[in-house]
Parts: sequence; structure tokens; C-alpha cells
Amino acid sequence: MTQTTGGGLGALGTAMTGSVLVDGDLDYDEARSLWNGEFDRRPAVIARCATASDVALAVDFGRQEGLEITVRGGGHSFSGASACDGGLMIHLGTMNHVAVDPERRRAVVGGGATLADLDAATQAHGLAVTGGVISHTGVGGLTLGGGMGWLVQEHGLSIDNLESAEVVLADGRCVRASADEHPDLFWALRGGGGNFGVVTSFEFRLHPVGPEVHLAFLFWDQDRGVEALRACRDAIPSLPERTGLLIAAALSAPDAPFVPEEYHFMPGHALIVVGFGSAEEHAAAIAPVREVCPPLFELVTPIPYTGLQQMLDDAAPWGIRSYDKCIYLEELTDEAIDVIVGRAPDKASPMSFMPIFRLDGAFERVGEDDTAFGGRRVAQYMVDLTGVSEDEELFRTDRGWVRSTWDALRPLAGSAAGYLNLNSEPDDDRVRAAYGSAKYERLARIKAEYDPGNLFHHNANIKPT
Ligand SMILES: Cc1cc2nc3c(=O)[nH]c(=O)nc-3n(C[C@H](O)[C@H](O)[C@H](O)COP(=O)(O)OP(=O)(O)OC[C@H]3O[C@@H](n4cnc5c(N)ncnc54)[C@H](O)[C@@H]3O)c2cc1C
Repeated sequence: MTQTTGGGLGALGTAMTGSVLVDGDLDYDEARSLWNGEFDRRPAVIARCATASDVALAVDFGRQEGLEITVRGGGHSFSGASACDGGLMIHLGTMNHVAVDPERRRAVVGGGATLADLDAATQAHGLAVTGGVISHTGVGGLTLGGGMGWLVQEHGLSIDNLESAEVVLADGRCVRASADEHPDLFWALRGGGGNFGVVTSFEFRLHPVGPEVHLAFLFWDQDRGVEALRACRDAIPSLPERTGLLIAAALSAPDAPFVPEEYHFMPGHALIVVGFGSAEEHAAAIAPVREVCPPLFELVTPIPYTGLQQMLDDAAPWGIRSYDKCIYLEELTDEAIDVIVGRAPDKASPMSFMPIFRLDGAFERVGEDDTAFGGRRVAQYMVDLTGVSEDEELFRTDRGWVRSTWDALRPLAGSAAGYLNLNSEPDDDRVRAAYGSAKYERLARIKAEYDPGNLFHHNANIKPT
């Protein structure tokens, strides 16, 4: 374990508006805990920052003491990146303010806010920005890696809506990054992860959304998997752009009130379609899939946007064990569907599944080099493979299931690239594959300028050139 000098620690605690925690303090265990129960790490120091100046003090302290530094936004990284044993955790959890300017349609969001914080504040004005599909996820890590959710077709990734960011750099300076100020840093922040500094606030452009939207959840049993996924794929190109969707392959039916009791936990496949337009438009959007392959059961209902954002929260409770790997597929070919459906029965945990995001519309209209996003800006699918269980044995089995299913899909993809935010092992090869060599080299040059000593390396790391 890295040692810290008592004097420096005392001075940090005195100077900070927030608090400093060490092992044995009342809130220490709660503050060090991560969403992924696979990781039980004990930082030497947790700096619970309340302001950007606190963050700057903590960065200076960590650098001067030679401590490993981790930055914790919402604590949801699959790789446990936001904590390490014996290091300094810069904890942003109390920096969760969200200030909305409804006239200008802008939100300034603290670096430690969750999507639930963001949605609650923006929906008070009938506004929203693309986030993820689980509301307790952190805005920080999600945005810095890209950010995809129900609004990706209509409004692009979270980063496509980022106007500016306030950042504490490795040398302790606080700067603003935007199209006009530190434009290279601003480019790198939009996809380059936590490599370039600690973002203390994000400024997003907002859009009118809801407050009520339209939800359809269609479920098929395993035997009809191939037919169902082909019907989903064939219907997707003609869906209106004001539609969000997720194919939840290899899903076990939830024991929710809308699911007939005899189908609770039944293995199968689902399609979730969200309509941001009228009820009629939504009904027309889902009609072709229902006609071609009638579901075993379905739910079609209006839902508040904030309810939509929280409806999957229970599927990913805090502290559960999880292992994730994903891959981009330009086409959902019959062969890919055969792999997905064929591998589905082999999962051990009812909570494991394969969410498949469709990326097109506003996503593909952003230029390839306009942001540092780790993935190509073409219409494609992002197939996520997620092994999830409270039970250690089931978890280990499904970690193997995730890996072997990824191996089976790999020959069908153009490359090994996958979305870095959904990756439990973002090693060097995986990081380079996601960015491609030209983008990686550009990121490495910017890293060399802003963090030459690679102070921020507990992440999908970009090595300074
Ligand atoms: C249950 C679950 C559901 C998810 N659903 C989606 C989804 O629908 N769409 C999607 O796009 N992604 C999704 N993700 C992936 C998610 O985007 C990543 O796990 C992301 O890293 C989470 O960010 P965080 O701030 O909560 O995590 P943390 O573990 O706190 O941080 C993750 C990384 O980002 C860095 N970081 C965080 N905040 C800051 C900051 N303010 N400044 C600098 N660096 C920072 C950390 O150092 C770390 O390297 C999901 C993840 C989980 C666990």
C-alpha cells in the first residue's frame, strides 16, 4: 500500500470544502463502494470533493504524494476503474448539481451527477439530453466515453450534445474546454474517457422530450428467437427517427406485474421500442414486427420519460457482480442472429443478457473525426454481452459465456472494436481497436500535452506519445 504523509493529508482536509476519508472513518466503506460487486478496493485516501477547487487540491495532493489517482463519477465502470487499493480516490459524488437554463436549453451538470439527477432537473422543463438506460449510472464516465441511450437516434450520443466542460488538469489548473477554448482538449473529452483531467462540470444542449413518451415491450420465447430477431432487424430501417430501441436478446422475462405469471423468468428475447412522437406514430412503428412475428406477450403503454429512464434500474442493482464485453456489427446478418440465438440458452444467470443498441440517425450524421468517439460513425449495431449475478458461481460461468459468445461473434465483425464504456477489460489492444490508429495517435498527442506523466491512467488508458 502506498504511504501518505500525515501532514499533507491534514493540510488537504483543512483546505478542502468537502471532506477527506481514510479507513475507519464512518463513511469510508460507503464512499469506496463500486457498482460492480466484483471489486472490493480500499483507497488510502478518499477526497470527497465539493468544488472544482477541492478537485484541484486533491489532484495536487495525489501528484505530490506519488499516489495512484482514481476518479469516481457514478462508480459504474465495469472494470472498477474508479477505485484502487492504497491510492487516492477523487470522489465527485456530492458534485451532483444540475442547473437548467430553459430559455437557452442548456444544462450545467456536476461531474459526479447521476443520470437520475440530470433527468429530474431537465424534465422539470420538458427537456432532456441523451443518457444511458439505467438511471443510477454516472453522467461523468458515461459522457466521456460517448453516452448512448434511448435518444441516440434522434439526438446522437451524449457527447454530440456537449457544449463545454470545466476540467481540472493533471497540473492542478482549472480550464474550460469548448469549440473556442482548448479545442483539442474539447475534442479529446468527447470520447477519450477520463484520460485528460477531472471534469467538474459538463454543459449540455437540451431538447424538448416528453414528459410522456410511448413504450412497447415485445417478448418472444427462445424457440422463436431467430424469427423474432430477423423481424426486428427487417423493421428497423423503416422506423421513424423519433424512435429509440433496444433488442434485449437472451433476456429472461422479468417477474413484473405486466408479465403473465406463467412467463416469469422464461428465457427468450425482447424488443423495446420507445416512441418520442405521437401514439399513432408509435403504433405504426411496431406494427410490422408484431405482424411478422406476433410476440408471446407485450406491453404497449404511455410512460413518463423519467419512468422510462428508471424502468430497467432493478435489472442492474448496486453491488451485483458483472462482466461485460461488446462488439460493433455493421449488419445483423442471419449468421450473427444464429450465433446470438444459439448462444442464449447457455447463460447460467437469469440476469445475464445481450442488449443490442441500434446506432443510426443523428449518430451517423456526426463526422468521423468531429469527436474522439471510440467507434465508427456509420449505421451499425453495438452488441453488448453482459454476465450478471449475485451468485459467484453463476457469475463465473457467465463470464465464460460472455467471452465465448464474443469470440463467436468476432469473425462476423469488421474488427475487434467495441464501445469502451461497456468493457470489463479495456486493455491496450482493445483501446487501440476502438479508436483506430489515426484517432488513437491524435489522442496520444493531446494526452502528452495535458497529462504527459499519465497521472490519470486508471481508465481505458491512452498513453501519451
Ligand atoms: C448498469 C449499467 C448500465 C449502463 N448503461 C449504459 C447505457 O445505457 N449507455 C451507455 O452509454 N453506457 C452505459 N453504461 C456504461 C457506462 O457508460 C460506464 O460504465 C461509465 O464508465 C459509467 O460512468 P460512471 O461515472 O458511473 O463510472 P465511474 O466508475 O465513476 O467512472 C468511469 C470512468 O470514467 C472516469 N470518470 C468518471 N467521471 C469523471 C469525471 N467527472 N471526470 C473525469 N473522469 C471521470 C473514471 O475515472 C473512470 O475511468 C452502463 C453501465 C452500467 C454499470
